[in-house]
Amino acid sequence: MYIIELTELQNLLKELISRGYLLIGPTVRSGAIVYDSIRSVNDLPRGTGDEQEPSRYSLRQRNDDMLFGFVVGPVSWKKFLYPPRHTMFRATRAGKGFTITPEGTENRQKMAFFGVRPCELSGILMQDQVFMGGTYVDRAYKTARDNAFIVAVNCTVTGGNCFCASMGTGPGATRGFDIALTEVMGGGKHYFVASSGTPRGEEVLGAVPHREATEPESRSGLDAVSRAAESLTKRMDVRDLPQVLKDSFEHPRWDDVARRCLSCTNCTMVCPTCFCSTVEDATDLTGAHAERNRRWDSCFTMDFTKVAGGNIRPSIRARYRQWLTHKLSNWMDQFGTLGCVGCGRCITWCPSGIDITAEVDAIRGNGVHA
Ligand code: SF4
Ligand code: SF4
Repeated sequence: MYIIELTELQNLLKELISRGYLLIGPTVRSGAIVYDSIRSVNDLPRGTGDEQEPSRYSLRQRNDDMLFGFVVGPVSWKKFLYPPRHTMFRATRAGKGFTITPEGTENRQKMAFFGVRPCELSGILMQDQVFMGGTYVDRAYKTARDNAFIVAVNCTVTGGNCFCASMGTGPGATRGFDIALTEVMGGGKHYFVASSGTPRGEEVLGAVPHREATEPESRSGLDAVSRAAESLTKRMDVRDLPQVLKDSFEHPRWDDVARRCLSCTNCTMVCPTCFCSTVEDATDLTGAHAERNRRWDSCFTMDFTKVAGGNIRPSIRARYRQWLTHKLSNWMDQFGTLGCVGCGRCITWCPSGIDITAEVDAIRGNGVHA
């Protein structure tokens, strides 16, 4: 492990920019932490913390200068790897036919994601499975992914809706990063414990002023992550969960949650693992140009499940049940893991404050009636 002093962190950013990466990291916009283009340590949310409860989110001023003293905001990294809207091809009239311009791999801009939280890293690895792990590889996703450099930042603070430890995805990152950082503050010191996860990560670290970590320094980083794990207040009991849900198809809790759910789609839009999309064709008024676009869709919309002859999930009960059981049961059959990383976004950004952990508890009969 290495130490990068706070005063040298800018050199890590500069090194990535000099290697042609578009640097994206957390920054404050419209009262929230969002991921956007950054160029300097000064663009990071220094001294900013967040408060999260079901259907509640706010930023607050911390009483220290932590650069990563907050957890996840409404925007996940999937926005950059799997954009909300993507043009699959354009068609231009040419004589009696059309010339087709495929646009599946046009985005070759190299991106460095700076400040990927461990749960989000797991979300990216899950979407890798979805878009690249099967017979058919999504070329646009693969191109973006091949061009992405990941700097993970382990969590040393946790949010009120986080339950990563239950899902085995945090608060420390174990794989999938090029570089992992842990921010350590205390005793007048402020530094980052750094490690590399790939040869290119090692190469970038080698180009930035750093030194070997002493044993106490390495320990202080690990302890900060352990304390974060202990501070988590929310949990999900995942024991046998896929089968429990399969056995609960007619559980009365689905009626209960259906009375609270607005079918607004927020949970699916903010979720780092949700991947449903729809395809739309558009043409201009002359009929000379057309394009086919893919855009995010949600299993909560009526149109999503409309088929010839009707809608296969006409009720909110059926749609909420589909969402939750896909995440926590059928995902296991499809991909061999659960499809939730415990980031808590769906709880924070649900206008009704529906809490996926409380719904699971209620279905298990654990006496929670949120
Ligand atoms: S289901 Fe909710 S807690 Fe789980 S990954 Fe999606 S947004 Fe995060
Ligand atoms: S669970 Fe909440 S966020 Fe999701 S669709 Fe229902 S009301 Fe919207």
